[in-house]
Amino acid sequence: MAKKTIRDLDLKNKKLLIRVDFNVPFQNGVISDDNRIVQALPTIKYAIEGGAKVILFSHLGRIKKEEDLQKNSLKPVSIRLAELLEQPVKFVPKTRGKELEDAINQLKSGEVLMVENTRFEDLEGRKESKNDPELGKYWASLGDLFVNDAFGTAHRAHASNVGIASNIGGAAAGFLLEKEINFIGEAVDNPKRPFVAILGGAKVSDKIGVIENLLKTADHILIGGGMAYTFIKAQGHEVGTSLVEDDKLDLAKDLLEKSKGKIVLGVDVYTAKEFSNDSEKHLHTYEDIPADEMGLDIGPKTILKFKEYLADAKTVVWNGPVGVFEFSNFAGGTIEIAKALAELKDATTIVGGGDSAAAVIENGLADGFTHISTGGGASLEYLEGKKLPGIECVDNK
Ligand code: ADP
Ligand code: MG
Repeated sequence: MAKKTIRDLDLKNKKLLIRVDFNVPFQNGVISDDNRIVQALPTIKYAIEGGAKVILFSHLGRIKKEEDLQKNSLKPVSIRLAELLEQPVKFVPKTRGKELEDAINQLKSGEVLMVENTRFEDLEGRKESKNDPELGKYWASLGDLFVNDAFGTAHRAHASNVGIASNIGGAAAGFLLEKEINFIGEAVDNPKRPFVAILGGAKVSDKIGVIENLLKTADHILIGGGMAYTFIKAQGHEVGTSLVEDDKLDLAKDLLEKSKGKIVLGVDVYTAKEFSNDSEKHLHTYEDIPADEMGLDIGPKTILKFKEYLADAKTVVWNGPVGVFEFSNFAGGTIEIAKALAELKDATTIVGGGDSAAAVIENGLADGFTHISTGGGASLEYLEGKKLPGIECVDNK
């Protein structure tokens, strides 16, 4: 079902509330990566050009105690945004009250205002994160129209997404949210085939929902990373000291059976005695993993096998690194998979998941991908086929 987007709104002179995701990382008080701000620019610029009075809402970090307030103020973000937009951004250090209301009422068409961190409302009673009805209603009263462009929080019903939408008479998607819906939603619901999923990461238990949902639509599911060892053990192999969830062995057996060959495991692994980058690296097949070693990366034969499945793929969804990519000596498999995907022609390639996205970006391969999801938890739940409240609250066309 196609969703209403900001293009469908008449913006001229309207007070337009936009929920963006400006939850950017800081190091020593300085923004260390402004990618999330950059990603929100198309929607904000479109609103400015359409003549809206633009009012931005975002959260930043978590607010549990008084001391969290100062270090999580959005003020530095508003300064960076003003630089990127090349126009002033009026920052209001409040989430409610007269100062905010006056500033909004003084806005002129094409001007931009930013409200303080929505989670400042979490200090007493988690009003933002629990979607307090009064708060959503109040924020909705500040504007005429609402656009949700925050995919990273779309898997949660908060006052600043669902709360505003349900009190202002609905919502439209911003360009970033639209992109996530188009790419992830389409890939899962209506993929061009062959559709290959690559799943990795640490634990099977984190990804059960994703595997089960993708078993319905994917043609092949390639499994690497820490979660592979539960499957390898379920097939009767010794896995040494590799990461295994023994309470998920039966489930892994069931999934392997149910998948009727759709689930594809590798053939070899790089192992080491310690969980450390400096631990000596050995190559083994699944048949001969030593009792005192753990698998930390996929081996070369596995990479070749996975590449064969990828060669004619038309849609690829990748979630979870296939090895401990934080250790340079065990990042090879993940980098090879990332390169293979980046080189695919005529295929839609999508990365969902915070760590897998980081692996692609760190290795300078982002340009080779069709879409790198901006939401870690949200993309995972979307891949599970769950309905995300932040998307559900956007009107259908
Ligand atoms: P994503 O954020 O992309 O969804 P996850 O959070 O599920 O990915 O998993 C990422 C983590 O999985 C990384 O920290 C990585 O070190 C770990 N991992 C990958 N392979 C292994 C392995 N063989 N043994 C232990 N941990 C692994
Ligand atoms: Mg992760």
